[in-house]
Amino acid sequence: MLMQSQDIFSEIENQKNEMTQALMELIHVPAIAPQNDGEGELKKSEKLMQILNRIGFDKIDRCDAEDERVQSKVRPNIIAHYYGENTEERLWIITHMDVVPQGEESMWTVTKPFEPIVKEGRIYGRGSEDNGQSLISSVFAVKALKKLGIKPKRTVVLAFVADEEQGSTYGIQHLIKQGLIRKDDLIIVPDGGKEKGDFIEVAEKSVLWFRIRTIGKQIHASRPEKGLNANRVGMEYALALDKLLHEKYPLRDKYFDPPESTFEPTKKETNVDAVNIVPGEDVMHFDCRVLPNYDIEEILTSVKKLAEQFEKKTGAKIKIEVLQKSVAPKPTDANSKIVNMLKEAIKTVRGVDAKVGGIGGGTCAAFFRKIDVPAVVWSTIDEMAHQPNEYARIENLVNDAKVFAFLATF
Ligand SMILES: [Zn+2]
Repeated sequence: MLMQSQDIFSEIENQKNEMTQALMELIHVPAIAPQNDGEGELKKSEKLMQILNRIGFDKIDRCDAEDERVQSKVRPNIIAHYYGENTEERLWIITHMDVVPQGEESMWTVTKPFEPIVKEGRIYGRGSEDNGQSLISSVFAVKALKKLGIKPKRTVVLAFVADEEQGSTYGIQHLIKQGLIRKDDLIIVPDGGKEKGDFIEVAEKSVLWFRIRTIGKQIHASRPEKGLNANRVGMEYALALDKLLHEKYPLRDKYFDPPESTFEPTKKETNVDAVNIVPGEDVMHFDCRVLPNYDIEEILTSVKKLAEQFEKKTGAKIKIEVLQKSVAPKPTDANSKIVNMLKEAIKTVRGVDAKVGGIGGGTCAAFFRKIDVPAVVWSTIDEMAHQPNEYARIENLVNDAKVFAFLATF
């Protein structure tokens, strides 16, 4: 067993240049959502199909979704199978082909977003880390096995999906709707992680953003009794709300980093232009990241109830406007098979004990958790996603492939 693993690892090492080339080829082809004036993933999927066909998977299926907004009318999803000794057990490695737009072009100082280059062991370009690195790692993990004539213990299914950056309706959600996923499938989504590759994400927090608009009465600052200071009411309300939320929802869960829900008063809008004006309006915002144990609607009710109390007490109007609300699904069980397998793979390949926990969320894994299929998010990344000068480290490209190959074979 150990001998075999060593052979696989050196084969993957030998593929380093080929992996680098393949990732650069993919970065060359933008795959941007129609919401951002892009043409979707079809061209990129064709490039990827060329790479996959050279390797020789046992079966490659398509599960494309129709989308009128792109010229091709198609959002492609590719599902490549490499059969194992046990074809009943399936290890899915799910990566996405789409990328976010380049953003401000002048901030790309190393290279242009879709003209990848290699510099100091890193591949620069849009989509290099998010999610090209893991996509190529998964492909070359299979390629190494194939080349060595090793049949994996379980069937490896590589899914390359569309539309992840815009909510996955035409990507992983489409696949799930077609009934392609079984309850006992082992799911890994390498689309998040930490620098050392020692963190396995099994849970995410719910997100709630809201705006608080407090309306009083503007007046000259020398006669405050004739007006109603919205700034004062707004501040008092915000501080009271801050206290209430922290006291009412204090639960800590050690799986999360940080372990508690966060309720932060953040953006405050400019009110009046002069020092001697009592503001008649005050606008501020809260960013809340809430443990999945709590009901977001219940929290929102608390926010509104306190606002009503302040309205009665002060005579001001307080309006709450929700800007973002996403409910986290139930966490993946930290003792599920895929979590334990991945822990063992990381331990064997890297010699480190991985921590299991929850962080930001917002990946394809959420859709599996929603249907009660355990899914983990793991990869080794510098967290360069969506930034200018995005890069992927070549060593991560190679070393994550070893973990994937190990996962398939032990
Ligand atoms: Zn991503």
